[in-house]
Amino acid sequence: MRRPERRTSQAMRNATTPGNGRILKSGNSQRNAQRITLLTRRPTMHTAYLTHPACLKHDIGAGHPECPARIHAIEDHLIASGLLPLLDRLEARQATVEELARAHGRGYIEAIFRHAPSSGLAYLDPDTAMNPHSLEAALRAAGAAVMAVDRVMSGEAENAFCNIRPPGHHAGRNSAAGFCIFNNVAVAAAHALEQHGMERVAIADFDVHHGNGTEDIFRDDARVMLCSTFRHPYYPYCGADSGNAHIINVPLPSGTAGAEFRAAVTRHWLPALESFRPQLLLISAGFDAHREDDMGGFGLKEADYAWVTQTLKEIAARHAGRRIVSVLEGGYALNALGRSAAAHIRVLSGL
Ligand SMILES: [Zn+2]
Repeated sequence: MRRPERRTSQAMRNATTPGNGRILKSGNSQRNAQRITLLTRRPTMHTAYLTHPACLKHDIGAGHPECPARIHAIEDHLIASGLLPLLDRLEARQATVEELARAHGRGYIEAIFRHAPSSGLAYLDPDTAMNPHSLEAALRAAGAAVMAVDRVMSGEAENAFCNIRPPGHHAGRNSAAGFCIFNNVAVAAAHALEQHGMERVAIADFDVHHGNGTEDIFRDDARVMLCSTFRHPYYPYCGADSGNAHIINVPLPSGTAGAEFRAAVTRHWLPALESFRPQLLLISAGFDAHREDDMGGFGLKEADYAWVTQTLKEIAARHAGRRIVSVLEGGYALNALGRSAAAHIRVLSGL
């Protein structure tokens, strides 16, 4: 684990964060202390950042693009940009079987537990494998998304980013695929519906690949709107002719760059989201549409990720009490991934 700074306890944060009042109120004059508190108050921590060391141990072979270094690439850029200390850092807990079963079949969940190897690799599909640490990583990844929903619903955070792997949006109700085991964003959406009584949750998916697993899980559940832009025809070779009133699929050709991406979001996502009025906005944040990412074949830049994040923030401000939970999906050009995710998180945090 290379993280140079670990999340401290709540007590330590209280003792070291000016503006929380505990230190300043110990002065002789309460009135003066209140004035000082007002003058020195820092912005409240609005953005939670969730990850777990187990996500680094899910390693499915040298040369596999979905590699542990992806987590470090993002964290390194957050450190270099000075953002990481300003985020509310949390270690992800494991999702429970009950939480997973809101999005996945119990037989599928049991099969994943059964297939988890004690040594070596166990393949779930030609692209998707488990090592002895993968089950915990997958449970922590889904657990991070659930925790992040709880965090924004309680008001402890305005929004959250989950730096997690394995990714999730290709995992269907009963299927692993495309590096994905459990569908983290879908588990989060289902948690918001079932645990928090939400009636309308939106998922915005700007990964270069179609979020086919998310569509599979919510195809018949109009409480969840999925907005997905993706390259087509391309893996997973679906989505162009599916969709319905609450599944907003926007297939785009190879070579799509920022201007075309922004136009597609503006034309297709925004009217749908405005009329849907989501009470919570989730983001499947894949950064493999970046122009430096060979796997994607799109031409997005950091500024495009900042733009779409700001645009989604404005939707959330109008309809969702500013509540956003963003979970990492793809992104395999490590430097571009780090820069893009940092741009995304900077806009989320408003810093
Ligand atoms: Zn992808």
